[in-house]
Amino acid sequence: MTEKNQEKHKARQQKVKEKVDQKVAEANIEQGILQVISGNGKGKSTSGFGTVARCVGHGMQAAVVQFIKGNWECGERNLLEKVGVPFAVMKTGFTWETQNRETDAQAAQATWQKAKAWLQDESIDLVLLDELTYMVSYDYLDLNEVLEALRNRPKMQSVIITGRGAHRSLTELADTVSEVRNVKHAFEAGIKAQKGFDF
Ligand code: ATP
Ligand code: MG
Repeated sequence: MTEKNQEKHKARQQKVKEKVDQKVAEANIEQGILQVISGNGKGKSTSGFGTVARCVGHGMQAAVVQFIKGNWECGERNLLEKVGVPFAVMKTGFTWETQNRETDAQAAQATWQKAKAWLQDESIDLVLLDELTYMVSYDYLDLNEVLEALRNRPKMQSVIITGRGAHRSLTELADTVSEVRNVKHAFEAGIKAQKGFDF
């Protein structure tokens, strides 16, 4: 780099820094964050669990509600329960394996009761509602009840909702919304779901 370019670069970076500093100074609201992680690509639940690990790593309290992963062994659960993260798991397994709408809806309701209790508990800093979007899409849970529970949660509590096809009311209410796009997935090339990677 010539000296002149160096100067230009420095001036540009200084401007960027000023803008970032200003934005950081302006972001002074202290409150829990509602995040929705949706889309068809892989990485929604793992992202949610990453934040749970981050929370627990600070000595804070997280709770996990899993809406359709009942019969799968879950690596994160094995680890996180050991460090005091409570789990509520809907026990019906993947919905396309179960044929009974009635029992699925009942299981969803029972699991939701636990979620609701955590959404009223100030001692819980983060609630992960894994795969909740499907419960709303299938009408197993009442959308308005879900929205109300999210709105009325303790001010400092953060919540993460994962799952494809998030209802618009959920993304509208959320503070942070991420869409994971599928570029390619190993499964499409015939590679089996791998323990320690996919579950
Ligand atoms: P992960 O739990 O790995 O973060 P996810 O939460 O984004 O995945 P889900 O829709 O909940 O994705 O699906 C869970 C399982 O399905 C995982 O084993 C994951 O590898 C697999 N999966 C995710 N996306 C795809 C895809 N686009 N094609 C095929 N399988 C997928
Ligand atoms: Mg998932």
